[in-house]
Amino acid sequence: MTAQLIDGNALARKLRAEIAARASHLKERGTVPGLAVVLVGNNPASEVYVRNKVKACEDNGLHSILDRQPADLSEADLLARVRQLNDDPAVHGILVQLPLPPHIDAQKVIEAIAPEKDVDGFHVASAGALLTGGLGFWPCTPHGCMKMLESIDYDLRGKHAVVIGRSNIVGKPMALMLLAKNATVTICHSATSDLAAFTRTADVVVAAVGKRNVLTADMVKPGAVVIDVGMNRTDEGKLCGDVDFDGVKEVAGWITPVPGGVGPMTITMLLANTLEAAERAAKQAEAAP
Ligand code: NAP
Repeated sequence: MTAQLIDGNALARKLRAEIAARASHLKERGTVPGLAVVLVGNNPASEVYVRNKVKACEDNGLHSILDRQPADLSEADLLARVRQLNDDPAVHGILVQLPLPPHIDAQKVIEAIAPEKDVDGFHVASAGALLTGGLGFWPCTPHGCMKMLESIDYDLRGKHAVVIGRSNIVGKPMALMLLAKNATVTICHSATSDLAAFTRTADVVVAAVGKRNVLTADMVKPGAVVIDVGMNRTDEGKLCGDVDFDGVKEVAGWITPVPGGVGPMTITMLLANTLEAAERAAKQAEAAP
């Protein structure tokens, strides 16, 4: 292996310790950071994600409320519940676990979350803040990828970054974050005619597709940084990313593994956003006459 590993577990541990220390400091000033996680129905994958988020809060000094709702909850009732949470001063962050049942318009629900509590960063106000450089919350997964680049002191200025995938929650915000750090950014997607022609000139590749082996060794410039967001299963059922790790690690300069890469960073950034929301709320309350 020639590439150095960017260890998401180790970085997440370090950042979570810092978050726990800040949470404890805030608690001494009378505010316990609180996250409300709303789960509608009992999708098995969502159950696991939600459990992990709640546990991560508990382990790091944040208060969490798991708000379980039945699968047949109406859209109106879910919107009413979100409004209640918006008005609850003990709740600083609200996360509605996706996917929602098909009878509920997920975007409508996300837009009902108060932007100052939108710790997933999916509200249009958060997207607008990212686009314009304003104060909001960055989506957790791409934000975690940026922390991984920071952890290796990677200077993005003037570098060519290629993002594969253009979803609203990963690809597009990732591209904007890289751009804000002065990279020259290319976004590739399913209609890109020659993906390898772009990735071969990239100093940084972020793969966020959801398909195995989208990026292979012959598509990577020697020494490039490769960040693998994908979460897929091998034929044997083992978790794997979008990148052919065994091949690419022989060419890249830096690489993130799956599992143990971007995954643990995503929940860490959710904790960071919740803490940040609580700190902003406390500051506002302290400044109030
Ligand atoms: P998504 O909404 O399905 O978007 C996938 C993107 O990949 C789309 O923009 C699609 O292009 C593009 N694409 C599909 N096939 C392609 C191909 N052959 N070549 C180039 N681009 C292609 O997925 P997502 O929500 O962004 O998630 C992406 C992956 O990241 C998934 O595996 C997901 O599980 C994983 N994920 C991981 C974490 C984590 O914490 N580790 C968090 C979120 C997501 P079009 O737009 O043209 O369709």
